[in-house]
This record gives sequence, structure tokens and C-alpha cells, in this order.
Amino acid sequence: MTSGAFSVSTSVVAPGVAGGGTCCGRSWVGDERSHCCLRTRGCGEVFDDVELFDAHRVVGCCVSPWVMGLVQTKNRIWLRVLGG
Ligand SMILES: [Zn+2]
Ligand SMILES: [Zn+2]
Repeated sequence: MTSGAFSVSTSVVAPGVAGGGTCCGRSWVGDERSHCCLRTRGCGEVFDDVELFDAHRVVGCCVSPWVMGLVQTKNRIWLRVLGG
């Protein structure tokens, strides 16, 4: 009697993960990401690289990524819009 009722979901496993982190209830993959930590009065967002991170910090305050025209991946990492 194999009904298949005990099927195991593997959807949470991300293949080929190299680096990443978890903080402020956020988690991401990739070594080069820049996380604006809530514990340092940041906005908690995760950016593709430190350049974008710097760009969203204007005079010590956070600019909303969507105001900057960034796009967010399904992994909730903010990226530049390619191609303009
Ligand atoms: Zn954090
Ligand atoms: Zn921020």
C-alpha cells in the first residue's frame, strides 16, 4: 500500500548555494550581498552589492530601493534594472 501520502517536498532546498546569510528575519544567498541591518537602524533590505547599498544610504538615512528604481528578485534582493 503505497499511497504517496507521505511525499516530501524539496522546494525549500536551493541548489548550488554558495554563501549567503540570515539576519533580521531575512535570508539570502550570495557572498557579495549587502544587508542593511535593522540593528544598525537600517531598513533591513538586501542589495546585490555594496555599490547599491552605498547608493541607498544618503546622509546616513535609507532611501527606499523602489524610489531608486531598483527591482527585487524573488529572493528579495534588490538589483539594478538592466538595459534601462
Ligand atoms: Zn540584519
Ligand atoms: Zn537601508
